[in-house]
Amino acid sequence: MYPIVGWRNRKSADTRNCACGTWKQHWLNYSGRGWPTSCSVMRCNNPPTVGAPVINSNVAGESIVPMCAACNKLAEEFILKINAIAVSANPAETCAAKKRVMYGSGWE
Ligand SMILES: [Zn+2]
Ligand SMILES: [Zn+2]
Repeated sequence: MYPIVGWRNRKSADTRNCACGTWKQHWLNYSGRGWPTSCSVMRCNNPPTVGAPVINSNVAGESIVPMCAACNKLAEEFILKINAIAVSANPAETCAAKKRVMYGSGWE
């Protein structure tokens, strides 16, 4: 179960992702849901445009949530909507568990 408080954007220029191609596709593949009509951040009603890598001190590793471009630039902590769905960004728990194709280094 994911907490809704204490999230931050991953502060990194590192744009690596997985065999899904984009983090948006990764989210679609592993959430089992359709792309939401509004951003995952509390009180934001913009349409989400990216699968954003986010971190939380109470969650191991990185997670991906649908987000709008503005929220993706937030420097401060934010709260997710109750119904927001975060998926693990760790391919070992998601895509690579089915398909052993990885790009770049550092995943293992
Ligand atoms: Zn993936
Ligand atoms: Zn937003």
